[in-house]
Amino acid sequence: MADVPIAVVSGANRGLGLEVSRQLADRGLGVVMGVRDLRKGEAAARFPGAALHPMFLDVADPESPARLAAEVRARFGRCDVLVNNAGIHYDTGNRASNPDWRVVREAFETNLFGAWRLAESFLPLMRERGRGRIVNVSSEAGSLASMGAGTPAYSTSKAALNALTRVLAAELADTGILVNAVCPGWVATDMGGAGGRPIPEGARGIVWAATLPDDGPTGGFFRTACRCRGEPESPAPNPESSEYPACRAASLRRRRT
Ligand code: NDP
Repeated sequence: MADVPIAVVSGANRGLGLEVSRQLADRGLGVVMGVRDLRKGEAAARFPGAALHPMFLDVADPESPARLAAEVRARFGRCDVLVNNAGIHYDTGNRASNPDWRVVREAFETNLFGAWRLAESFLPLMRERGRGRIVNVSSEAGSLASMGAGTPAYSTSKAALNALTRVLAAELADTGILVNAVCPGWVATDMGGAGGRPIPEGARGIVWAATLPDDGPTGGFFRTACRCRGEPESPAPNPESSEYPACRAASLRRRRT
């Protein structure tokens, strides 16, 4: 197994995390599917021929990411890709002016601290090989340039995740580890609901960022050209984020922050 690149995907038992796991396995990676319920993970991982390995992960538990990293080290000896996909609380009913602090805290615990702890836990394995890809699954809702009222816990936690992306990318410049944030657009998962685009399409940009070549961008916030939830049919270009080449190859640029 030591020759097979290993990807770790959080929240991999359903939605985008499951599809990203399948697409990465299709590309020949061994995929550790981080799941809170191993029975569900094992059911989700039943694809003939795919190297999918469900393992326990609760990103809201401060000890869990380090435990998973120790297990991955013992079993596979490497981690080439980390996809911080687990996310919660698209809190449409809430307002920042009248916050629900339980929801805000839970959103930050999972959407920001969970991703941060996973990066902290898996970075040593990437540094040892002098190569790695970290993809933070973010949202246009977390874009400072375009955010407005509503979904306060979700939007502020994703904005913080975008900030973490830039800080980590800058700290890791010239280590061979690329760190990017990707908005998958509005996708018809349990979180996105009906009306979003098909899950395989939503997963494409995440897989693109997870499999970037060594001279690929880092510190970027990428989105697809499709519409985000609540946006009109043709969204205005967002100066803060770039489209990924699955949609428009010309927009790809190398970025060092
Ligand atoms: P889903 O609600 O369909 O799936 C969320 C996944 O996260 C589930 O596997 C869930 O596991 C897991 N999860 C939640 N909390 C934890 C935790 N503490 N530890 C480990 N896993 C956890 O969401 P999507 O697939 O739609 O979303 C995936 C990512 O994409 C999220 O970060 C989301 O913010 C982002 N996104 C989604 C959009 C959309 O339109 N769908 C748009 C923009 C961004 P369990 O089954 O155990 O609950």
